[in-house]
Amino acid sequence: MVLLSIGKIEQAKSMLDTAFHSAAAQAGQLKTTTKAMPRKPLDRARALELKRCFVVQQFLTRELTRIVKGFPSFDELAPFYVALCKATLDLADVKQSLGAVQWAREQIASRWRNTRFQINSGMDTGALRKTRTAFYGRVSSVMKQINKNLKLLDQARQTIRQFPSLKTGIPTIAIAGYPNVGKSTLLKALTGSAPAIASYPFTTQRLMLGYIKNKDKTQAQIQLIDTPGLLDRPLAKRNTIEVQAILALEHLTKAVLFVIDPSPSAGYSLEKQHNLLDDLRKRFHQEFIMVINKADLVPGSVLEEEQRVLKQLAPESQQFLVSAEKSEETDTLKEFLLKVR
Ligand code: GDP
Repeated sequence: MVLLSIGKIEQAKSMLDTAFHSAAAQAGQLKTTTKAMPRKPLDRARALELKRCFVVQQFLTRELTRIVKGFPSFDELAPFYVALCKATLDLADVKQSLGAVQWAREQIASRWRNTRFQINSGMDTGALRKTRTAFYGRVSSVMKQINKNLKLLDQARQTIRQFPSLKTGIPTIAIAGYPNVGKSTLLKALTGSAPAIASYPFTTQRLMLGYIKNKDKTQAQIQLIDTPGLLDRPLAKRNTIEVQAILALEHLTKAVLFVIDPSPSAGYSLEKQHNLLDDLRKRFHQEFIMVINKADLVPGSVLEEEQRVLKQLAPESQQFLVSAEKSEETDTLKEFLLKVR
């Protein structure tokens, strides 16, 4: 999903400089193309002033249109992105600034229509020059009025640029669990490939994306997200914005795949892992799917006991015993995930 189709937004002064510079250059060129230039001095002056004003309005209206069109239409965004926008931007300010840019574009376009008329009907070169100077003055003042909006929009652009590019049209399943339980190994085992990487605001970590494809491997049917640094520890000690960014995931995910490592080498006790599960289940209200991983390292009796405890903690959840590293039993899990809707 491409959210932004716009690069850096220049400030008013820089846009004006470029516009006036380009107008002077193009008028200079016109002067030297004798064929295109009328003979009479008044007609020549008209042609040159028209050229200057035309170039200025064309450049600025194009730039301003590019800005307005470059932003997503916020009312039509997928809820996940709306939630991210709300967590990271003042949407009312952004919308108001886009309105101001639109206003400026219309001001410049309408002022150009008047100016063109005045130049075409101007009767001496002094008057023509005055008309052009007045046009330049008005355009500069309009642009300066929206300078703060241009700055704000460029900041918003930089924030939105960090949003991860995710598929919003297919079911998404988030993978959660403490570090080292085998989340990324499982992602690879289920999707058969190295994950794609997307950035996520408020974390230096990246989201890892994988896709479970349909049988003939042509179409992605399920999007799996591993969220290092996010769903791998309790939410309690995080700041508000961070929590909001994590919760934005809730709008996107149809299910949470909670991975548990019952092996002796796990970095976190089973009690801690169960507490994290409880914590996440309080915040995420969708289906949880339990994956007991590293079955190859754990005696059957321990696995059975863990299954029993999990059944008590999350009675409605489906459980899977797998060994992600050896791709054991991951196909059964994959079949189940493909049915998530
Ligand atoms: P993450 O931090 O949760 O993403 O965990 P990783 O996927 O990086 O796995 C942590 C370690 O556990 C790695 O050394 C993996 O090779 C190992 N591991 C993952 N799954 C299994 C498994 O099913 N069996 C065994 N024996 N090791 C595993």
